[in-house]
Formats: sequence, structure tokens, C-alpha cells
Amino acid sequence: MLNIGNHISSSKGYLAMGKEIIGLGGNVFAFFTRNPRGGKAKVIDEKDVSDFLQYKAQNGIGRLVAHAPYTMNPCAAKPELREFAHDILVDDLHRLEYTPGNYYNLHPGSHVGQGVETAIELIADQLNRVLQPDQCTTVLLETMSGKGTEVGRSFDELAEIIKSVKLGDLVGVCLDTCHVYSAGYDVVNDLDGVLKEFDKVIGIDKLKAIHLNDSMTPFASNKDRHARLGEGSIGWAAIKGIINHKELKDLPFILETPNDRDGYIKEIAELKRLVMN
Ligand code: FE
Ligand code: FE
Ligand code: ZN
Repeated sequence: MLNIGNHISSSKGYLAMGKEIIGLGGNVFAFFTRNPRGGKAKVIDEKDVSDFLQYKAQNGIGRLVAHAPYTMNPCAAKPELREFAHDILVDDLHRLEYTPGNYYNLHPGSHVGQGVETAIELIADQLNRVLQPDQCTTVLLETMSGKGTEVGRSFDELAEIIKSVKLGDLVGVCLDTCHVYSAGYDVVNDLDGVLKEFDKVIGIDKLKAIHLNDSMTPFASNKDRHARLGEGSIGWAAIKGIINHKELKDLPFILETPNDRDGYIKEIAELKRLVMN
């Protein structure tokens, strides 16, 4: 069975998110832990959380793929910006323990001229400061397109970060199909080769979630412009191959396509139709 969903607004709480994804025809979802531009998170409502956990179990909702605010830069050059990232990481990881066993996806960051090696050390330091041996949340580093000075544009960069994290078992990877294609991994013509490379460099067991997006820009463009499925340079044939690939088919697939509600309902339905058993 395909695990499919999209980003749901967290403004009305957990139970509302669960009901929304079931209404869209999905069974997994992503949400921003706070305003994507940062800022304060909502206070956790324990009644809402327990109602949600019950609803989640009853309706077969799979693992949540929470997303950190994308303006947070764990490897910023300015110490105060790194401290801001630290505070968000601590608070988000604390909040996610209310819904145990889920994922917390983050963009590794941008090295802003410090160089990728320095940035990798800074990111690993951040994770070493915040990860707790008894936590139930797995942190996922997202594969990035390589725009600007983004870190995580290659599997090697992600592997280096993970290797430097002491509690490395608590860290995995979320593969964004738009980003990797833009970064020069040819998931259209050589998906098997890309996944072999992933396995060799990071280990396929580290692959925990997929951001399923088409791309508005060509292969290896290092741009980050998501397209609706079938409307970009990746296309439906490759998307069908991705959702049915034996190494991927059981992972949570999260749509981050530019759609309204009806658009997501259609994409989710179409993806379910493309599942081969
Ligand atoms: Fe992302
Ligand atoms: Fe993404
Ligand atoms: Zn993106």
C-alpha cells in the first residue's frame, strides 16, 4: 500500500491535520513545526495530541514527517544565528516527543562562504548538542538541490554529517526527488544507479522518507523549483517508477507540489492508481 500525503497546515492542531489528510485520500503527512520562517511554536495541547494519536491508529495514518522552518540555518556563520537554530532544534525535538516515533526533517543549511567542510562540522556539532539517547524521534537530513551555498547537495556531504554524529542511529535521510534531480542524480533515466550510489555512500537503510515533487528546471540545474507531478522535467513515467521501486515503495511519500486542495486530492488519487502490486 502506498503511503502518500502532503503538507498540512498545523494551525488547527494535530487532530485537524489527521482528519484533513484522511479527507484528501492520504495516510501520511508533513507539517511545519512552526511558521516556516521561524518564530514561536504553538503550545502543545495534550488533549488534542491524545485524540490525534487515537485517530491516527484507528485510521492507519503512518509516520509523520515534520518539517523544521526552512529559514533556520544550523551552520550559519554568525554565532547568534546558530544559537537561534539550536533553540529551535531543542524546542521542536521536545515537542515532537509528544507524538513519538516520527520524523523531523531539516535542511542541513547553507555554508554562506565558510566552505562546506566547516559547515559539515557545524551541523554535526548542532546535532551532537541536541540529540538525546532516549528520544523517539528520528532526525532526517534532506537532500538539497545545491542552490547558493546549500549543504547536502551530494550524498557524500550527507554521509559526512551523519558519520560525525555520535548518536548516528537517530539520523536518517529524506530524499527530495526535485532536489536530487536538480543536484545531478538522474532519477529519470537511472533510478537504480542513484539508489545504488545512495546505498554505497550513505546506506539504503538510512533512507526514511521521500519528498515527491516534479521539477520546473532541467536535470542538474541546481535550482529548487517544484512542479506539479507530470508537469516538470521528471514526468509521470519516472514518478511511477519511483513509487513502485522495491527500495522505496514502503516509505512515506510527501507531496510538496504547488497545488490547491483539489490538486492534492487529484495527485494522491492518481498516485494510488499507479501503484503496481
Ligand atoms: Fe524541505
Ligand atoms: Fe523537500
Ligand atoms: Zn525544494
